[in-house]
Amino acid sequence: MKILVINAGSSSLKYQFIDMNGEILIAKGVCDRIGVPENSNIEHKVGDKKFSKKIAMPTHVEAFEAVIDSLTNGEGKVINDISEISAIGHRVVQGGSIYGESVLITDKVLTDIDELAELAPLHNPANAQAIRACIKVFGPDVPQVATFDTAFHQTIPEKAFMYGIPYEYYEKYNIRRYGFHGTSHRFVSKRCAELMNKDLKDVKMITCHLGNGCSISAIKDGVCVDTSMGLTPLDGFMMGTRSGGVDPSILTYIMKKDNISPDEMNSILNKKSGLLGISGISNDSRDVIAAGEAGNHRARLAFEMQNYQVAKFIGSYAAAMGGVDAIVFTGGIGENERRSRKYVCEMVEFLGFKLNLENNDTSGQEIKISSEDSKVQVWVVPTNEELLIARDTLEIVSK
Ligand code: ADP
Repeated sequence: MKILVINAGSSSLKYQFIDMNGEILIAKGVCDRIGVPENSNIEHKVGDKKFSKKIAMPTHVEAFEAVIDSLTNGEGKVINDISEISAIGHRVVQGGSIYGESVLITDKVLTDIDELAELAPLHNPANAQAIRACIKVFGPDVPQVATFDTAFHQTIPEKAFMYGIPYEYYEKYNIRRYGFHGTSHRFVSKRCAELMNKDLKDVKMITCHLGNGCSISAIKDGVCVDTSMGLTPLDGFMMGTRSGGVDPSILTYIMKKDNISPDEMNSILNKKSGLLGISGISNDSRDVIAAGEAGNHRARLAFEMQNYQVAKFIGSYAAAMGGVDAIVFTGGIGENERRSRKYVCEMVEFLGFKLNLENNDTSGQEIKISSEDSKVQVWVVPTNEELLIARDTLEIVSK
């Protein structure tokens, strides 16, 4: 069975086309600048070959038509006809307290995604728009599945998902921790347990997804019991451009001092903070680390702050679970950045392991980076959210 996986934003649409017989990636690509028809284009990749085309894409409908055209025609052709696409899996950001797992998309599911837009105004409307466009282009007979970023975290107990503000805000506005990156945490935790030759149920695991967005999850008895992102993907610790958790009074203080609106404050916290805000150089950890090594104090500080905060989360989740058996690094930084992993691991070695420096010096591969005799194992596991969406889609449509 061949499955198309879609990750759509308001102006972009990423896709992967996967043959589930062997879980082989057949083709992938991205449609950019949807809504800006004079500038929109598709980049389609098959193996090492790249095919770029300028195509007017006023809406997601034209983007899906361009995806079909790239898969079925021209040099990047991989199938003869769209009937070879058996099902479609969509990444959806916010599933609220309704969805603890992936589901077949029905009218009710689409309405729920619309209604949950209140909690994810930047993401859910675009996800819903893309799903509707997809149904229009592929027709109602191709099954479509939604996989939610929040679903894996639905097992988090009340004491961990509630914020210490008046209870009525939970009742009135559903304000609570939802957590994000769930598909990634689920993928790497399952894979790490396999690599350890253990059942995930028997491993207390801390998964660190460190990319541009960053989050850490605690997994016990096979389910997520806590995670660092919250009501929105802003909570937790310092990211590329996001602040992570800060003293909430800072917000009202700055807003009053500089006379700025809630939206402006929101933009400062989401787009101008984190590695970028502290270093003043970049949100990209590679640039920040290079500048720090060249002697730039604020860049070095940004690097240290982020990794110090990661180590503190690991310590607190070890406390939350009464111990830890495995720590996993994933995401662009987690998979590739030996200096970040070294900084964090050296801070938490007291938990019961020693870093294997030689293995830690690798990049982008599945590898154990703790020494052989460690009580706690530390692994690098590249994430693959699209594959997990495809697996869920296959499972749901095969029922
Ligand atoms: P996103 O959260 O947007 O999916 P990624 O997971 O791609 O982002 O992570 C982006 C971060 O990963 C950036 O800070 C970047 O510097 C870092 N990164 C990506 N590739 C490498 C690499 N080869 N070496 C070091 N850092 C990397």
